[in-house]
Formats: sequence, structure tokens, C-alpha cells
Amino acid sequence: MATHTIACPFCGLVCDDLGLDQDRVDVRGCAKAAAGFARRPAIVEHRIAGRAVPLDEAAAAAAKLLGGARLPLVSGLAADLAGIRGLIALADRLGAVIDRWQSSAQQANLALQQHAGALTATFGEIANRADVVLLLGADPAARQPRFFERLLRNGGALYRTAPPHVAFIGPAAAAPADPAVSERVFVAEDALLDAVGALAAIGEGQKLAATTTLPLPALSALAERLAAARYGTIVWDIAAFPAAARGAALAILLRLMRQLTRRTRCVGLPLGGEDNAQGAATAMLWQAGWPGRLSFAAGVPQHDPWGNDAERLVAAGEIDALLWVAALTAAAAPKSGVPTVAILAADAPEAAAEVEIRVGIPGIDHGGAMLRADAVVALPLTAARPSGLPSVAAAAAAILAHLPAAS
Ligand code: SF4
Repeated sequence: MATHTIACPFCGLVCDDLGLDQDRVDVRGCAKAAAGFARRPAIVEHRIAGRAVPLDEAAAAAAKLLGGARLPLVSGLAADLAGIRGLIALADRLGAVIDRWQSSAQQANLALQQHAGALTATFGEIANRADVVLLLGADPAARQPRFFERLLRNGGALYRTAPPHVAFIGPAAAAPADPAVSERVFVAEDALLDAVGALAAIGEGQKLAATTTLPLPALSALAERLAAARYGTIVWDIAAFPAAARGAALAILLRLMRQLTRRTRCVGLPLGGEDNAQGAATAMLWQAGWPGRLSFAAGVPQHDPWGNDAERLVAAGEIDALLWVAALTAAAAPKSGVPTVAILAADAPEAAAEVEIRVGIPGIDHGGAMLRADAVVALPLTAARPSGLPSVAAAAAAILAHLPAAS
């Protein structure tokens, strides 16, 4: 039997070099992918108040519950692109708010891009061109296990003759162990913003007073290295910065990259993209004009970064129904205290939901597409072990069919 090459849906790298031989997946040594492809269905029946029912009956009950709400929230959104599009259509018909769960870090990156711009790069550009790479605050391999192998230790790069110089600034506990990292500059989490500010200030030629919280000689050397690079790359996990420092950190990073790009090239790569987070943001952007925090309550899409924050809405008790969607992960719905419809992967545990619809995992039970974290390409997902479980798109369409037509 021939081995097919397939893409992996279990993190934002969406590695497209996995092997599929019948139903066996060669995960190229990635433990996260191995765990993902080892997922097996545990609950395949749809339920209303714990009673097993056919999909259409569950969809009708979901439509009644959500359609009768004053302000429903559609969240989770861990689905393939077709699923996300189906959920946006559903939110539109329901007059609901739609927002990913825990989207604050992603929204911080996108907000700066919206207001001030960005210097971005594709994974391909970094893998082929980057000669100096600065990792900020976190080990990329914690979220994307093959990050170093695919982007920094890759062979056959087109425009660099040697592996890049890779440096890390951040807390010692978060430092990457990968041998590609040859320089580690340790600063405490609460000094990370100051370290980034110092890098930018040194690059601008400012003289900084000595301080005990920052290793200024090491930061100066790094600033020089970035200035001397042909293609510098700064990789950050914005969640590694204290929440109150994130906006300032992103603004300083953009200033630093712009300053470097006057004489050489320097690009930024925010980490993320798990559970098709980039796909959710991009689909909302192309269908409604904003990449998240959307409300259709007024009959037209409206973006409010604070008002339409899913976590805030739940905590403040402002919603009266929840549609929770988790197909790429087995994440349970948050405790919301409101009637809930849960569209869940079949390996997720029993849900505390009035209506439960069980769906397949994109890339295992059915095909689909998922956006890579660099937001430039949607990669096709192959059904590694096709099953009869419905997709999120099919579940959303089934619920939509039981709602009154749009006026
Ligand atoms: S790094 Fe991510 S996308 Fe690549 S194989 Fe591992 S889990 Fe899958």
C-alpha cells in the first residue's frame, strides 16, 4: 500500500509531511501529533438531556434553545474552516456573539496589526532566509513541537548557507532546550517588557543607565547582531508577557522591527494558531470585516474588542445561551450557568449540556482545511480514519435548517 503525505491538524505549524499508510500515521517523531492521531471515539451518540437521539432531533432542540435566547454566544470554535464558516452563518442567523475562547492574546496581536501595521513573514521565508532569530519569552516547541526542525534546523534552505544564530530572551524556566539555540539571555517575566524596550533603545543609539534587572551587555550584543543580520526574525508568544504589558510590548516590537528594516530586514512571527485559531480569525475577517469579537445582535456584524469578549460575557452573566464547539480538541465547555448546546469531538467526556452533538475530528474522521499560523495558506486535511461522524459544518447546517429563515 502506498504511503500518502498528509497534513497534521494538531498545532499551528500544520506540518504537511506526515505519512499515511492505510490508517497508520507516521507522525515524524512528534509526540503531540502521535497523541492527536491516537484519539479514538468514546461517545458517538447525540443527546438531549442525556437521552440519545438522531442528529436531526438534536439539531432541532439546539435550534429551539439557541433561537429562543436573547443573547446567545458561539464560542470554542476549534473547528476546520468549513466548520467555522458554518458557525459564522449560524451566529448571523441567531443574532449571536461569536468569539474564540481565550482569544485575548491573539486579539492583542491583531489589534496592533490593525492600528499600526506589521512586518510579517511566511514559514517558508523564515526557513529559507532567516540568519538571526530571536525567541522572546517562551519555547516555541512547547506549542509547536517541530518548530526548530521545520523552520530553523531545516536542510536545503535556499538563501542561507548555514543554520541561523538563534537567541532566547526570557525566564530561565521557559528557555528552549533545542540545540539550535546557542544564546540564552535570562530575564524575569516581569522584566521582559523592559528587555524588549532596552533592545529597541540600544538599536536607536540610546545610552542606558546600568540596572540590576537587565543584562545590558548581552542585550547590546544581541541588538548589534540583529542590526548586522541579513534577515532577522523575532518570534514571540505574547502570552509570555504579563497581560498589562502586552500592548506596549507589541508596539515596541514593531518599533524595533521598523527601525532594523531601515537598513536590513527584520520580521516578526507571533506564535499561536492551535485549534485553527488563525482560520477562525481569518474567516471572520473575510466574512464580516473583523477577525473576532463579533456580534450579530443588531442584525449586522459589529466588532467590540471588550464588549464581545467571550470570557467577559460569560463572567458578567450577559449571555443567556451558549453554543460551545470543540472538534479539534476535546475541551469541555466552560461553566457558564446558562443553557448550553455542545458540539464536541467524540472523544470528549460527557458534557454538562442540554443538547450534545458529537462530531468527527478534522484530519481524522473527515477531510477539511486549516489555516497555518503564518496565515498565508490553508492546507487540506485528509481523513486519516474516515468515519460516519458528522463534521462541525454539517452540525451547524443541521441547526440552521431548523431556524426561521433570515428576514
Ligand atoms: S508540530 Fe504540530 S503540526 Fe507538526 S506534527 Fe507536531 S503537532 Fe502536528
